[in-house]
Amino acid sequence: MKIGIMGGTFDPIHIGHLLLGEFAYEQFKLDEIWFLPNGTPPHKETESIGTDFKHRAAMVQAAIYDTPYFKLSLQESKEGVHYTYQTLYEFKERYPHHEFYFILGADSLFSIETWMHFKEIFPSCIILAAMRDDKDITDMEHQINYLTTRYDADIRVLRAPLLEISSTAIRKRILNNQTVRYMVPNSVVQYIDNHKLYYEET
Ligand code: ATP
Ligand code: MG
Repeated sequence: MKIGIMGGTFDPIHIGHLLLGEFAYEQFKLDEIWFLPNGTPPHKETESIGTDFKHRAAMVQAAIYDTPYFKLSLQESKEGVHYTYQTLYEFKERYPHHEFYFILGADSLFSIETWMHFKEIFPSCIILAAMRDDKDITDMEHQINYLTTRYDADIRVLRAPLLEISSTAIRKRILNNQTVRYMVPNSVVQYIDNHKLYYEET
């Protein structure tokens, strides 16, 4: 099977993440997309994630439950730091016959060399990179060429609608009593309301 992996903090999950999953599924004819909420993402340690894994995973589940080929992966649910290279290694061990496609946005493609043992990520998956923010297709192709030549990576451009949405902006809006309807699925709006998430500064 061809598996897309959509990793993130998902604090909270939003339609940008979901569209990346949907368009990767279509463009690369994948069988499933696994949404993988991070435990304590190493590069965000200093910012301290305010929201429990339990809530972030529950919001992912609420967002994807009615799409049969979207799954929630709890591979990084154990407390402590998880690294992408390690998680991909675990997936490879456990599912030796699957082919893995790691989905990410431009900001991640440009910072990947700061990730722990990032060189070990390239042999274990194909990377699908989507545009984001001010990075245009020329910037993307330049970075893809660089990583391909330098690390023998297999990176392909994922064409998805450009959405200027981030979890950070969503958290800020809630803090300011602004609506986030249509930026996250209705089920996620409801979950945030029910659990009073993001209403106070952490
Ligand atoms: P935060 O603002 O908290 O960093 P985020 O919106 O960037 O949240 P993450 O969980 O950090 O979401 O992102 C997970 C992955 O999804 C990253 O690879 C990121 O580049 C990608 N991504 C998130 N939002 C978008 C978007 N609007 N367009 C393209 N890629 C996105
Ligand atoms: Mg981010």
